Amino acid sequence: MRRGIIGGAVTVQPMSHPDPEDLARVAQEKLGRKRTERVYKHCRTCQPCADQLLNLVSDQVRPAGRPLLTMWNWVSLAVLAAIVLGAIGFLSWASRHAVPPAAGF
Ligand SMILES: [Zn+2]
Repeated sequence: MRRGIIGGAVTVQPMSHPDPEDLARVAQEKLGRKRTERVYKHCRTCQPCADQLLNLVSDQVRPAGRPLLTMWNWVSLAVLAAIVLGAIGFLSWASRHAVPPAAGF
């Protein structure tokens, strides 16, 4: 991380985040090429800004509704249902097979 301080070309700028508006314009590809590159460069070293940009870009891709979230809702519901059904099935299997020794088997 010492690179760039002496040469004047500072490559890592963790403290100067781009404007949220700039991020939005980058997502819409409405920002100038130079500033877009600067935002991209920043996002490569700054995870929060990269996440924000990613969110903005995916909002651009899916402007109407949130089908991905709905899909994941269904997936989690299906997983939950499978777990519940599995638990019920296991419990009924266990109660059928775990008979006390006094029952004669
Ligand atoms: Zn940042």
